[in-house]
Amino acid sequence: MPRYAFVNGAYLPHEDAAVHIEDRGFQFADGVYEVIACIHGNLADERGHYERLERSLRELGMGMPMQREAIQLIVRELLRRNRLQNAIVYMQVTRGAAKREFPFPKNVRQSLVITTRPFRFDDNPKIKTGIKAVTVPDMRWKRRDIKTVALLPQVLAKQKAVEQGANEAWMVDDQGFITEGSSSNAWIVTREGVLVTRKATTDILRGVTRTALDKIGRELQIRIEERSFRPEEVYEAAEAFVSAATALVTPVVEIDGHKIGDGKPGKVTLRLYEEYRAYVAGLRGEQVTWTA
Ligand code: PLP
Repeated sequence: MPRYAFVNGAYLPHEDAAVHIEDRGFQFADGVYEVIACIHGNLADERGHYERLERSLRELGMGMPMQREAIQLIVRELLRRNRLQNAIVYMQVTRGAAKREFPFPKNVRQSLVITTRPFRFDDNPKIKTGIKAVTVPDMRWKRRDIKTVALLPQVLAKQKAVEQGANEAWMVDDQGFITEGSSSNAWIVTREGVLVTRKATTDILRGVTRTALDKIGRELQIRIEERSFRPEEVYEAAEAFVSAATALVTPVVEIDGHKIGDGKPGKVTLRLYEEYRAYVAGLRGEQVTWTA
């Protein structure tokens, strides 16, 4: 069965799917993206991801390439054609293909690419065992709240982690505080049971999963503090985890060679994982509004 991708208005076999060499996404990283998990046919936090997509585009002086409802239909059609119930949906919007000049081009059609790939969310070994992280300097620009395709600092950060036998890099700002993971938000649970994650300013990407976890945490009456923390605080924390559309809630059991807690996924983390799964399955009421 061929695998299909959606590229600028057409469903194409994956191997034939391509954009123009003068696409500004390719030449300038002039574009944004979103990733949505599809778990047992449920699109996790679908609304929040579209809200963030619209905002990212707006911040870069772009609109949506077509109406949100039309993109939602295309995503469903692509999942159907690819016969996927459990998948990662990737969508990318760029300013389009134009003669290579820095200012925004006029009258150019934006590019829209959507791909899906199978992903097994059930029995994910990383949830059972947890992952390792390392800290690296955060080398990114100042608008990390925009989900742009300019991901080179994150690519280098993740590569450093992999070279050290870890799965994720937690990036550290110039003041010595952790910003976030290379493709996730960073959380700790203190020994007093307080859930801590960095305040969502322009310093980090405000995760859609993070927004949902904040709501779930409050409903579970867990104390939540939005504040910065240093690697040293993580070394002493009871638990740590990352949140992201595909990682969901993945325990972090070691960082920079320091075991976190007893070196096993923590209770609060696993509870949040289970509750998030229930939330995606529609068992915990409405999905959150990311713009709220
Ligand atoms: N922070 C960064 C840098 C990311 O790349 C991601 C996801 O890709 C996140 C946070 C988590 O965001 P979300 O939960 O919306 O996937």
